[in-house]
Amino acid sequence: VRILALAVLLASMPAAATPRQADIAILGGMVVDGTGAKARRADVLVSGDRIAFVGRVDRKRLQAATVIDAAGRIVTPGFIDNHAHGNPLIARSFDNFLLQGVTTVVLGQDGVSPQAEGTDEADNLTFADWEKASRGEPVGIKGPATLAQWMTAAAARGVDVNIAPLSGFGTNRALAGARTEDPITEAQMQSAETILKADLAAGAFGLSNGLEYVPDRYSTREELVRLARIVGEAGGVVMSHMRSEDSDRIAGAIDELLAQAGPARVHISHLKIVYAREAREADAVLDKIRAARARGVRISADVYPYYAGYADMGLVYPDWAKRRDQWDDAVRNRRAELEAALEARVMKRNGPEAILIASGPDAGKTLKEVADARGLPFVKVLIDVYGYGGPAAAHRVMLPEAQDRFIAAPDIAIGTDGGPWINHPRSWGSYPQVLQVFVRERKAIGLEAAIRKMSSLPAANLGLADRGVVAAGMKADLLVLDAARVVNNASWTRAAAPPSGYDAIIVNGRVAVRGGVRAPERFGRILRRTEVSR
Ligand SMILES: [Zn+2]
Repeated sequence: VRILALAVLLASMPAAATPRQADIAILGGMVVDGTGAKARRADVLVSGDRIAFVGRVDRKRLQAATVIDAAGRIVTPGFIDNHAHGNPLIARSFDNFLLQGVTTVVLGQDGVSPQAEGTDEADNLTFADWEKASRGEPVGIKGPATLAQWMTAAAARGVDVNIAPLSGFGTNRALAGARTEDPITEAQMQSAETILKADLAAGAFGLSNGLEYVPDRYSTREELVRLARIVGEAGGVVMSHMRSEDSDRIAGAIDELLAQAGPARVHISHLKIVYAREAREADAVLDKIRAARARGVRISADVYPYYAGYADMGLVYPDWAKRRDQWDDAVRNRRAELEAALEARVMKRNGPEAILIASGPDAGKTLKEVADARGLPFVKVLIDVYGYGGPAAAHRVMLPEAQDRFIAAPDIAIGTDGGPWINHPRSWGSYPQVLQVFVRERKAIGLEAAIRKMSSLPAANLGLADRGVVAAGMKADLLVLDAARVVNNASWTRAAAPPSGYDAIIVNGRVAVRGGVRAPERFGRILRRTEVSR
């Protein structure tokens, strides 16, 4: 609030009082400041890593190291992605985010802590190992064993964009020794709490869960509520891949999330209704979210602007064959039952033609095409050709008319659910997709409201106080782009394609991309809730 008051004060000063020196001057653009306020013509000056001034600059008195002519362009906050995947310690380049204007991502999603994302190195660690690692003692794995260690290592390596980390419920549960459907013991529960508290103290912005995945799926509501209390006391957020996204179960899943709210803020990740038949089902979900908010519950959500999800094949396995040991047992001893369950589940998910293989040698073909080419029923492809886990795939299980309601809703943030190794166009194209298709072509949402969904709204969802708005005093994450010309070049056949129409992308006051060419340096930072939250 203080920062915004200062911004208003500075913006209202006469031109004669404007500062003359700046590291970067962005001149003559239309500022869409991220708050939803109407675009206005203004110059933006950057000094160090902060926005120093927004208003009219006397050009004769200006001395700036870098001048960006923004005539005919809009100037916006860098986009903030509430739900992203990746691990810079494994795949260093975050070009997919940066080149679409994302300057901050939230990692540690779906219950998987950042240090466990993209690696199974830490899978067999025990709580005793975690305690040793916390004291700085070696535990026999190459990578970091705790979130604090990961944050230090990622910062030392250098990151392309800012990263706000979450603690992962499933990672913590597994470390605590609760990996199966056996009820969690009190001792394990206390271990999970210890890890969560340490992660929050290290600067995590909250806790994520992935309640459709192992071992998160074995949790009870009581367990989730107990951990959410700790998150709330720290001022954090619980971000949830909910228990179910199916049309007949989503209301109950939202209730489970609402039970975790207050003191914690709660957030629905990648909002979607699987098997929706009518658009009004989306209206009912929005009504439920807004009714909770009207009661004082702090609940938010993000959505990616595509109609197909992305997951490994485990998504179509029956509940009793989710884990590898269960799957192996089912293939050996319950083969007919497994085949019937897979058949039923895939048919319910719009059939094998609705599953587009996205990794491995079959990438680009549907499951139906693979099965036909091999002359096998698709269930035999899943069991005998792919085996446990299988390739990643895009699942066409959403109703476009229903998802469109979420994508255009002013109170639902835009996210990617993408990442460097996720071969889905959302990884490279989510933000330009909204600007090109939903704002410009369909006029489903206004430019200012769309930019707000990509900046100040996701910042607020996260409790990130110093980013997401173009105002003096805020961190200088800024975009200069041509709203009339932004084109999403990512497609299902070529997901890894950056958009066009962006002039400049500034991260922490440094020009990271200019005219489509990125600087070799990495200007992102590891963010800590303890330093930037409100
Ligand atoms: Zn998820």
